[in-house]
Amino acid sequence: PGCIHGIPRAPPDKILGLTEQFNKDKNPKKTNLTVGIYKDNWGQVTTFQSVARAQMILDQSIELNTDLSYLPIKGCPDFQLNVLKFLYRESCPEGAESLDQGRISFVQTLSGTGALAVTSKFLSLFMSRSVWIPKPSWPNHANVFQNNGFDDILYYSYYKNGTLDVDGWLDDLERGAKSRDGPPQCIVLHACCHNPTGIDPSREQWRRILDKIHELNIIPIIDMAYQGLDTGDLYKDAYLLRMSLDKKRYNWNNGLFLCQSFAKNMGLYGERVGSLSVVTPVRHNSKEIKRNVDSQLKKIVRGMYSSPPGYGSRVANVVLSTPHLRDLWHKDVKNVANRLHSVKAKMAERLEWDSLKDQSRQHGMFLYTGLDMRSVETLREKYSIYLVQDGRLSLSGLNDSNVDYVCDALQSVHR
Ligand code: PMP
Repeated sequence: PGCIHGIPRAPPDKILGLTEQFNKDKNPKKTNLTVGIYKDNWGQVTTFQSVARAQMILDQSIELNTDLSYLPIKGCPDFQLNVLKFLYRESCPEGAESLDQGRISFVQTLSGTGALAVTSKFLSLFMSRSVWIPKPSWPNHANVFQNNGFDDILYYSYYKNGTLDVDGWLDDLERGAKSRDGPPQCIVLHACCHNPTGIDPSREQWRRILDKIHELNIIPIIDMAYQGLDTGDLYKDAYLLRMSLDKKRYNWNNGLFLCQSFAKNMGLYGERVGSLSVVTPVRHNSKEIKRNVDSQLKKIVRGMYSSPPGYGSRVANVVLSTPHLRDLWHKDVKNVANRLHSVKAKMAERLEWDSLKDQSRQHGMFLYTGLDMRSVETLREKYSIYLVQDGRLSLSGLNDSNVDYVCDALQSVHR
């Protein structure tokens, strides 16, 4: 330490690095199926209609959109109000009581990643430095927790032979808990549309998993980056949050952390709009606990980036709080999910793959092809088709004009 000459080279980002390579590729048939950005059937990243109309309202409103001064540390108060209502009254009515009792701490964050960063910083400062992450997971999970004070990144079994390995998962948690005392551990749970596998536990499996996490006193961190992109119904897709906040079954002694993003379900990727909410436990001194959590979250944000950006949260706020735009937003999300389902169906017509046979097993934006690194490389080098190294394919990069080309190539490298 202490010398700039000794700094080792960090590996390139597993996903974003590939787009740089794609941009340089001269093949006219090149196809980018790496990043999780939704594209329409014409290969365009379009603004949701609801969002475009909210932007028009903002453009015309002196009151709403000319104040470019700082937002408060915890974000725009109206945004907070409307996001809390969306999450804990509409998506998860089981949370309404916690909201009414003033037990939910909230910060507007720099999208889902920002929520995870603030969460991990908070937990490592006060509660835990040990986190369970599914194997495999979004590669940035480990990075974010490591960067924010976690020295113990543990992986729970998740995927085996194209299905969920729920027994392996529960065994791992059990064994991990037995081998240690001390502060509680945390666990990252993908709320729906698991990235990268697209395989989610059934309700019954979630029940077993939540029971085990609760029994072992592990702190749940729900990562909800794809709400709405599974079934097309924003409310339905929040089932994990609803199950977790069933008060007859669970009392999360150390709170429950929800990291939520509007990147995918409002198409606000680059505007960085999301939230962290902490549902604090029922106690005689709940109010004090919540106020203390609030104060520490504020201090963390102040030291990290001071306050969040304004524009995107104003757009989201107009969508959430204007009834006809909110209805339109729900339709926009439905359209996205419908197109993802139809791409999967088209692929299933052309490819005799097990992973495509049972469509109900694949959730969300990605198809986990099961192709090995060599095949992924062949696709890239021979066909200029770009997948993530682990074989994850972003479905919305497929459309009527390239689906045949891509399916033929996939078939040729599939063994
Ligand atoms: N969690 C998961 C599982 C994700 O796939 C993503 C997006 N790739 C995120 C969180 C956060 O994304 P963002 O910061 O853009 O909201």
